[in-house]
Amino acid sequence: MIQKFIKVVFKDVENENETKKVSVILRLNAIIMFIYFICILGVFLITGERASILLLLPCLCAYAVAFYTTYLNDTKFAAFFSVFITVDWIYIFIRRFGWDCGIQHFIFVLLVLGFTISYRKLPWKVAMSALACVFRLILYAYANTNEPFTALNQKTSTVYQIINSVFVFIGITGILAVFTKDSMEMEQKLVQYNEKLHKLASLDPLTGLLNRRSMREYLEKRIKAYNDGHVESMALAIGDIDYFKKINDTYGHECGDIVLKRLAALFTECMEGKGCVSRWGGEEFLLVFRHMNGDEALIVLNDLNRKMKKLQVAYKEERIRVTMTFGLSEFDFEHGIDYSVNDVDKKLYRGKEAGRDRTIY
Ligand code: GH3
Ligand code: MG
Ligand code: MG
Repeated sequence: MIQKFIKVVFKDVENENETKKVSVILRLNAIIMFIYFICILGVFLITGERASILLLLPCLCAYAVAFYTTYLNDTKFAAFFSVFITVDWIYIFIRRFGWDCGIQHFIFVLLVLGFTISYRKLPWKVAMSALACVFRLILYAYANTNEPFTALNQKTSTVYQIINSVFVFIGITGILAVFTKDSMEMEQKLVQYNEKLHKLASLDPLTGLLNRRSMREYLEKRIKAYNDGHVESMALAIGDIDYFKKINDTYGHECGDIVLKRLAALFTECMEGKGCVSRWGGEEFLLVFRHMNGDEALIVLNDLNRKMKKLQVAYKEERIRVTMTFGLSEFDFEHGIDYSVNDVDKKLYRGKEAGRDRTIY
């Protein structure tokens, strides 16, 4: 039963242009106010303020209608209706019971409601706040110069004051709870979406390795750290698969892709904790060896090469073996990325000319 009720309160709006959040806030506000008037009704019945009971019935009806309007798929109308009846009853009740019962504090609930259900820009919200302030001041001036129609006795007035305080807090808490819950969820979703977007933009879709752009960003970061005084040795290698075109021509492009993926996985495994690897071009990979000079990087690269030579990529009945040619240098922080990449690229070219399957250092 309670679950069913919660489901009804949090029911999504059918109109795509309307937001769910506003409707839920309005519904919750209507429920809280409905309970509030029931409580007041109870107080008036107990304390014998029978003359004022009739005033509560239209309020109960008005919030029941306000609740209903949130299901009409016209959020603007529902919002307008809720604000309208709130302004009305505050005005009527202060005229009737005076200032001392604390009815005027519901103007704060009204303001919070206005801020959370309005998607207008800041100037509009500031105007709304100013209007609420003026409304309160007018009511104060009125209550100061006019005696209330019905002076409540001391006891009733105290109980009424307490109930008003409690419901003002409940009202504001309820509205803000729904409002902030939603915005936090939105923010979380946005963070996840941005992460996903960033991942998509920085990784090569076939191999899952860093792409050229993100590898450049990585190197730029290292250069910036170097310029900031964080001196470290770093080596760079570029590798190109030997006769890769032949693999494509013999076994098909799909097979070529499988080989690329398998090699990428091997590189990732071998470079773990040692630096990073990216797909620099079609069948070219750029490897960065951190905290290593050229000699140390060569040891890691030779190990990687040994593992690659043992690798047999399974494709249908075939077992494909590949070799690669590498150009290796220490990274030149003074001359930057293009200079260093150009340097290893030239070595790679020399390696190809010298017969492939080797590392030029
Ligand atoms: P070399 O030893 O001189 O490097 O010879 P090679 O055949 O590897 O060199 P070449 O540059 O002639 O060929 C590279 C080939 O890589 C051409 C291109 O079709 C292929 N290639 C590039 N990107 C991909 C890819 O994503 N998937 C597949 N299957 N092939 C690719
Ligand atoms: Mg090649
Ligand atoms: Mg190539």
